[in-house]
Amino acid sequence: MTDEPLPPPAAPEPAPETQSPAPAPLEAAEVPAAPHRSGFVAVVGRPNVGKSTLMNAYLGQKIAIISNKPQTTRHTQLGILTRLDAQVIFVDTPGMHEARNPLGTYMVQVATRALQDADVVLFIVDVSTPPGPGDERLAEIIAKRGEAGPVVLALNKSDRLAPDNVIPFTTAYAALVPAAEWMLVSATRGDNLDDLLNKIVLSLPEGPELFPEDEVTQTHVRDLAGEFIREAALNLLEEEVPHGVAVEVESFQERGEGNAFIAATLFVERESHKGIVIGKNGGMLKQIGTNARKEIEGLLGGKVFLELHVKVRVNWRKNEADVQRLGYRPRE
Ligand code: GDP
Ligand code: MG
Repeated sequence: MTDEPLPPPAAPEPAPETQSPAPAPLEAAEVPAAPHRSGFVAVVGRPNVGKSTLMNAYLGQKIAIISNKPQTTRHTQLGILTRLDAQVIFVDTPGMHEARNPLGTYMVQVATRALQDADVVLFIVDVSTPPGPGDERLAEIIAKRGEAGPVVLALNKSDRLAPDNVIPFTTAYAALVPAAEWMLVSATRGDNLDDLLNKIVLSLPEGPELFPEDEVTQTHVRDLAGEFIREAALNLLEEEVPHGVAVEVESFQERGEGNAFIAATLFVERESHKGIVIGKNGGMLKQIGTNARKEIEGLLGGKVFLELHVKVRVNWRKNEADVQRLGYRPRE
């Protein structure tokens, strides 16, 4: 959609009352509009750098869910930003932080490929502290993209960057991804967010709007429901258990008006973990359910009845077949 239906320059609309003998300079409205751009932006950054804050600043509370297009199957959609001249589809690439076992290795492969699929990578870092091993690892994964497309580096939390550190820290981050364009921003204060977004938009390929806004498909909602449950568990449980939790949504029945009945099972690796996930008098599982239910209700807009079970699948992370069965595979 690069051509605007402008009148041919040789035959302008007759407008006698304003016509002057010499050709008038182009009015703003007659200047060909910038081409429409669209594409997928992989949002990458270690925990706590401000990814969610930045996404919320761009997308507000609204979660735009999009249909299951082949390009997006290795991603979790964070949201779509639609403006007149561009549609930016922000996507998450799961698995960038896992390692050390078959699931971890597999997830890093998935993340690497997911990054290759994205049109642009938005790498977010906390510029108020120097780069750490987490940033370096992500930079390595990003580097595997090769020439696949632009990388935009958001140096976030610039409001907390001490003047003496501006040059050394900025330089150190820029050196991690030499090809990236970078910008100092503050997601909480809103500094430079418009400029950053414009940089992202200009890095996208020309193309039409890819998704109608607010398109919701059930397959995707079902996946997201599973993710919300896993996230609720990760947030509530002690360090040791979380990575051993997988979620399978067994039943998802829409009841109209955003209401739904959902049954899901949390798989843990050990009998002792099962006890932790269920908690005293079932308190932990109840809390996981409550937190997840609120998230899912926010998404669907109605009332959700959530039924959770816990099952042990011994060492599922070490077992390739279970890793695949529990959905950790590209859905092509
Ligand atoms: P995420 O884990 O990458 O999603 O990080 P969050 O968005 O959850 O942010 C982690 C913490 O950093 C929160 O307490 C945010 O309020 C804070 N934070 C995010 N962006 C900024 C920023 O630009 N400046 C400051 N000072 N704090 C920020
Ligand atoms: Mg976050």
